[in-house]
Amino acid sequence: YIATLAALAEQGLDGNVSIKLTQMGLDLDRDLCRENIWRVVEKAAESGAFVRIDMEDHTRTDATLEVAREAHGWYRHTGVVIQSYLRRSAADVEALIGEGIRVRLCKGAYDEPADVAFASKAEVDESYRVLMERLLRDGHYPGIATHDEQLIAHAREFTQREGIGPARFEFQMLYGVRRDLQHALVADGYTVRVYVPYGREWYPYFMRRLAERPANLLFLLRNLVRDRG
Ligand SMILES: Cc1cc2nc3c(=O)[nH]c(=O)nc-3n(C[C@H](O)[C@H](O)[C@H](O)COP(=O)(O)OP(=O)(O)OC[C@H]3O[C@@H](n4cnc5c(N)ncnc54)[C@H](O)[C@@H]3O)c2cc1C
Repeated sequence: YIATLAALAEQGLDGNVSIKLTQMGLDLDRDLCRENIWRVVEKAAESGAFVRIDMEDHTRTDATLEVAREAHGWYRHTGVVIQSYLRRSAADVEALIGEGIRVRLCKGAYDEPADVAFASKAEVDESYRVLMERLLRDGHYPGIATHDEQLIAHAREFTQREGIGPARFEFQMLYGVRRDLQHALVADGYTVRVYVPYGREWYPYFMRRLAERPANLLFLLRNLVRDRG
């Protein structure tokens, strides 16, 4: 992360870094995790880069919010992620809006029990719509992280209707996913930030992407065969 932040600054790029706290030692030792975050935040502060703390499974939501709040206290260009599938998220969004902390809104990528998370796509999408409207209206430069065309169309229609300009939020998508949509949004004057995974610990990330869209496995196998052919 420190090397990436240095490279972003050197190239003059408006890049953010996104951090998973378990990769920073959250499950080993909370103080070690905070020290590691502090090091990243300190480096980011040299160039004014934004630091995003990703959200992991629900057993870590409280700890993640706690560390994110602390990091925001050290350096205000720090934000967090809220998942629309969690039943608690409306309350978390309200609190974060009040605290002036930037939120990336996503649907959520972990297999969660029904008592903490909505199970049906309809409920997760409806929750996304409600939280997105709330963040677009009163949030602090929210990141609308989805490839869902209906939700993106709703964001566009809602912001136009409410007079919320494109400079007040950004869309975010995963590297390589729906590039057509990414280009179309940029052509229409919207900001699109692309999430680029990198590094050696790629396996859990890769498995989550496969789990949310099993068709990707077929896509991967086809390309492997094609590359060898
Ligand atoms: C920038 C960014 C950051 C994220 N950060 C987090 C995080 O911190 N914590 C977390 O739990 N989750 C995170 N996610 C993942 C997110 O929670 C969802 O799992 C993921 O984005 C898929 O949901 P969707 O909103 O695109 O809607 P879906 O309803 O799942 O998908 C809508 C359509 O998008 C396309 N699509 C979606 N995913 C893929 C894919 N992997 N490959 C190909 N096509 C696809 C398909 O056409 C699909 O029909 C992040 C996602 C993004 C874009």
